Amino acid sequence: MVQGNNHVCIVGAGPAGVILSILLARQGIPVTLLEAQSDFNREFRGDTLHASSLDILAQMGFAESILRLCHARIEKFQFSSATYRITMADFFLLKTPFPYVALIPQEKFLNFLVNEADKLSSFHRIMNAKVHDLITTNGKITGVIYIKDGLKHEVNACLTVGADGRGSHVREQAELRLIKTMPPMDVIWFKLPKENCSHTGNATGGRFGVGTMLAMLDRDHEWQLGFVILKGTYKTLREMGIKNFHDELLKLAPELNTSLQYLKDWSQCSILSVVTGRVECWYKPGLLLVGDAAHVMSPVGGIGINYAIHDAVATANILTRPLLSGSIKEKDLAEVQKRRERPVRFIQAIQSIMQKQIISCALKSGQQFKLPVLVRFLAGFTVVQRIMAYMLAYGLHPESVEYP
Ligand SMILES: Cc1cc2nc3c(=O)[nH]c(=O)nc-3n(C[C@H](O)[C@H](O)[C@H](O)COP(=O)(O)OP(=O)(O)OC[C@H]3O[C@@H](n4cnc5c(N)ncnc54)[C@H](O)[C@@H]3O)c2cc1C
Repeated sequence: MVQGNNHVCIVGAGPAGVILSILLARQGIPVTLLEAQSDFNREFRGDTLHASSLDILAQMGFAESILRLCHARIEKFQFSSATYRITMADFFLLKTPFPYVALIPQEKFLNFLVNEADKLSSFHRIMNAKVHDLITTNGKITGVIYIKDGLKHEVNACLTVGADGRGSHVREQAELRLIKTMPPMDVIWFKLPKENCSHTGNATGGRFGVGTMLAMLDRDHEWQLGFVILKGTYKTLREMGIKNFHDELLKLAPELNTSLQYLKDWSQCSILSVVTGRVECWYKPGLLLVGDAAHVMSPVGGIGINYAIHDAVATANILTRPLLSGSIKEKDLAEVQKRRERPVRFIQAIQSIMQKQIISCALKSGQQFKLPVLVRFLAGFTVVQRIMAYMLAYGLHPESVEYP
């Protein structure tokens, strides 16, 4: 195992943990990455990589290979129904080498990245390693205890990074309080095999019906679908039976007709309680939270992976020098929060407006939902579509890799 007085222990091999591991290990900083699962095939994973993340992957020398894993490119985010289609964001208008959102199954994306990380001599990855506790020495966090194959193991580190996602155990153990907000919706999340469909990102987006909404993600050979419901209404929907659910889905997406034969039972669906939030303080002596562990992102806009990647880059940019000199201080960790908190708050505010003003109104409406007049009016302007695309793709203060 890699060790040293500047050893970093990263908990969680999601986008934040893996990118941070690579950036630090490339500078010769010893990194141990602990991942609770044995692989990257997860139920609740997003697939969308925006232009600013593709820029970062290009700076790391990975963009070309990663784009080979991409099976669809979305050029526009649109809201549509049986009678209208409105473009909210047009990525093709952006002046960037990547004027689209790349759809890449996260399993393939993470497998590619960990394979690259495994080539680095100062990187060590342990799968099936569930972090259980933090080790504290004289008021400073100095490592973790993890469980693998029923046995407890220790990793000692000068810095522990909690990149363990929305339900972060590290955050809980460190008693860093998450201020939660509960958007007014839940999502029924399920997959269907694709039948007779071309591989384009055009079908990806949000569709409105009468008091219903469906988010569709084109995942190469299958659809990832999110049927959005008002919080607390899942039980009623279930009681109405799977046949009624098929009918609701067909009204929103007739092209699912042949695929729906594979949705036989509610056990094929998971219910995702949508939560968003932020911790007040992202760090403690010896510990930093990044990605969803520091700020739980709503699925709206498909930007969570991007914020996780940008957190990782900001962390590497700010901490590489102190880690190399072997003297990491609390003020360095504070610098990471200072850098990333404003972009996160800004995008969460935009997500909150969309959740309340559009999604919630659509679900409460007893008739075919129409976007507010002002939204429809503004969405007609190319400049607005461009600004929205920029905000989703780049947000405030996009990061660039300083130590490629
Ligand atoms: C249903 C749903 C759909 C979404 N769709 C999109 C989308 O389309 N696009 C998008 O950009 N974002 C989407 N998001 C958000 C996105 O998935 C997250 O914002 C992003 O994955 C956060 O990355 P992360 O690296 O911080 O954490 P995660 O990706 O959550 O990774 C955390 C890792 O830590 C591991 N872990 C957890 N606990 C421990 C432990 N105790 N010990 C060791 N390891 C542990 C987990 O197994 C996991 O691999 C979606 C979220 C949900 C819930």
